Amino acid sequence: MSEPRGRLVVISGPSGAGKTSVCRALKQHPDVEFSVSATTRTMRQGEVDGVDYHFLSREDFQRRLGENQFLEWASYNGNLYGTPRWPMDAALARGKVFLLEIEVKGTRQLRERGVSGLYVFIAPPDIGELRRRLERRGSNEAAEIDARVAIAVQEIAAAQESVGGKPLYDVTLVNDDLAATIARVEALLWP
Ligand code: 5GP
Repeated sequence: MSEPRGRLVVISGPSGAGKTSVCRALKQHPDVEFSVSATTRTMRQGEVDGVDYHFLSREDFQRRLGENQFLEWASYNGNLYGTPRWPMDAALARGKVFLLEIEVKGTRQLRERGVSGLYVFIAPPDIGELRRRLERRGSNEAAEIDARVAIAVQEIAAAQESVGGKPLYDVTLVNDDLAATIARVEALLWP
């Protein structure tokens, strides 16, 4: 079998840092395909099953986990999230840039397994700004925002760690200006 020609790009970072907005822009590029994760969290207003996520019951998620259907998975704020394995293999075989938008624990699993790719951490300018963005987004209750901010503090610290002597992330971008951050990711992908 020939080597896959595509490239995996992991976009990670705390909730509210701007990952989804960066990925939305990258998805416009014809060479880019995007992983649709599975999750057990409830659907937010405006989300579409099979487009934003595959929304699964916990039982269904756990059955798929037992069948080794996920490339990586993590528990985030009480819900389970996972990347289905097969779309990535298919996209890379077709030479695509395959985008994963995932949190930090899942990223570490990929690194530990030696999955090659470009690993990008999108950081907020500071925690106060992250909280303001989560509040402005309006899709989470106050308690949920507190929990996400607390997880963000841990994720920002964990992003500095190394795995097997190598940094977890290849690049960290502070997203203080969305257009500039998108341009910087594009420059990394298509120098
Ligand atoms: P949200 O509930 O805001 O959609 O997602 C919560 C967090 O889970 C975000 O940081 C998001 O990037 C991450 N996430 C989404 N899908 C996956 C996945 O398949 N695997 C992992 N590890 N994290 C995911």
